[in-house]
Amino acid sequence: MPSHDVLIIGAGLAGQRAALEAAQAGASVAILSKVHPVRSHSVAAAGGINAAVKVTDSWESHAYDTVKGSDFLGDQDAIEVMCREAPGEVLHLEHIGVTFHRDETGQMDARAFGGASAKRTFYVADITGQAILHVLYEQLTKYSDQIDKYEEWFSTSLILNEDGSCGGCIARDIRTGQMEVFNAKSTILANGGAGQIFKPTTNALICTADGMAQAYDIGAELMDMEMIQYHPTCLVSNGFLITEGARGEGAHLINGNGERFMSKYAPNKLELASRDVVSRAEQTEINEGRGAGPNKDGIYLDITVVPKKRVHEALREIVNIGKDFSGVDITKEPILIRPGQHYIMGGVRTNVDGQVPNVPGLYAAGEVACVSVHGGNRLGANSLLDTLIFGKRSGAHAAARASDIPMPQAPTSRLEVDRKKLEKIISRERTGRRISEIKDELGTTMNKNCAVYRTEENLQEQLEIVRRLKEEAKTAAIDDKGTIFNQDVLGALELEYMMKTAETIVLGAIERKESRGAQSRADFPDRDDEKFLKHFTFTESDSGPVLGEAPITFTKWEPEVRSY
Ligand SMILES: Cc1cc2nc3c(=O)[nH]c(=O)nc-3n(C[C@H](O)[C@H](O)[C@H](O)COP(=O)(O)OP(=O)(O)OC[C@H]3O[C@@H](n4cnc5c(N)ncnc54)[C@H](O)[C@@H]3O)c2cc1C
Repeated sequence: MPSHDVLIIGAGLAGQRAALEAAQAGASVAILSKVHPVRSHSVAAAGGINAAVKVTDSWESHAYDTVKGSDFLGDQDAIEVMCREAPGEVLHLEHIGVTFHRDETGQMDARAFGGASAKRTFYVADITGQAILHVLYEQLTKYSDQIDKYEEWFSTSLILNEDGSCGGCIARDIRTGQMEVFNAKSTILANGGAGQIFKPTTNALICTADGMAQAYDIGAELMDMEMIQYHPTCLVSNGFLITEGARGEGAHLINGNGERFMSKYAPNKLELASRDVVSRAEQTEINEGRGAGPNKDGIYLDITVVPKKRVHEALREIVNIGKDFSGVDITKEPILIRPGQHYIMGGVRTNVDGQVPNVPGLYAAGEVACVSVHGGNRLGANSLLDTLIFGKRSGAHAAARASDIPMPQAPTSRLEVDRKKLEKIISRERTGRRISEIKDELGTTMNKNCAVYRTEENLQEQLEIVRRLKEEAKTAAIDDKGTIFNQDVLGALELEYMMKTAETIVLGAIERKESRGAQSRADFPDRDDEKFLKHFTFTESDSGPVLGEAPITFTKWEPEVRSY
């Protein structure tokens, strides 16, 4: 049985940063990932990472922008930690080899991003996530005597020790089908987000809420789940992301009447208002008949106003995406986009050291977690920062905890439970619906009923759909009966994780009868600070999700009217 001081589940930016920190603190580390680490969704991050590095900027200004972006739902103590530590972290990345773009004077260059009052988004062309992820992966090789990598291992559940603490996980070697108990003193969840609950989404196929559902299963709270970010610029054809960097470099949004409509919605920031504001503006234009394109269901993103040389230098990936997926040369003509699911602000509730309050020994960092630094709406380029700052802090805290306690003997009974569960799925008769069909129905209905604008009626309809699909998922048929690379059986588990998580998203959206950040209730169009200046949480029980509340932490900034 593999035993480690610190077990990290997930090897995107949050997981790798945690591994580096824990190893540097002297811990023995296991890092486990269901795909090769550099194929984690972090690799797709394009636009950049925020930090008040420049002397003309300040962490307080970054923090205020983040608080305002969150629509005052973010916890200000956590936001302060993130923004204060950001410059040090970005410089650390630069020192270990991330080739950030430099301006003509040789200084690290920053681009403008939505909701920010200064240019503070540092970038490597439009492959920032890839650049950072590869450098971190290189760094981990320095500690190969301390860090065991389990690549293409799938965690199937977390282990709860008899004293209520977390003792590691059960995982399956995807290559062979072999199952193992991973025993650990501290366990860090870094499983990423849940975008596959929606269709379309900008998220990779692996973003299936595994960590959220597994933590929820052993008593962790899921917080702010109703807060789902729709990114303003996703291709109409397939939901692919066109980075906010495009608007950061000056691109315009134009409706079907040829109008640059953002002046109506955000007279000061225009296209660079926060994402919830821009997505709502686009959706309103489309809903009111001013959409662009043959079906009037899109908006034009006009990048031709950005100098061609700059596009090729700073936005070269989206030049390719435009050509390959829309047949459009973005340097010559506008491209059709619309809001699309991109990010989940909610997740496993943690404190600023990544600790999950009610499960000792369990930590969470990155998109799987809710610290909560993003509150009702995440600012672009604050997520890479979140993964690194709280990945690092979790790694440090988890290693320190491990140095103080003996190795727990995790009960191995869970191994049999999971093994039998998988065998049962594999031996299912082919009578139920296919996994892909159920997943498709979940995604398309979530995107219809729980998207940019929500109403009681749509949400109630969606709750019924999710609950029906949750039952159907229990008998979903799988074709692959083998053990080697059986992705089919893992797909059945992922479907189960997504159903559980989706239920809390819809319930949270029903419960929050106001409009704040990404939660826009057409039937409750105003923010209601008197009733809803609080987080909603969910814990699991035999009779279903149990709603709870958590206070928001305020430090310096009182709620005020939010305009851009
Ligand atoms: C297209 C796109 C562009 C983006 N651009 C930006 C940007 O420019 N700036 C910004 O700040 N943010 C951006 N974001 C958001 C940001 O990239 C993500 O929120 C962040 O990278 C998430 O990192 P993570 O480490 O939490 O998870 P991920 O990178 O998603 O990694 C999750 C890891 O968990 C593993 N895993 C999951 N489940 C299991 C399991 N059951 N067993 C074993 N392993 C498991 C996976 O294999 C993977 O290694 C973007 C997101 C997308 C989708």
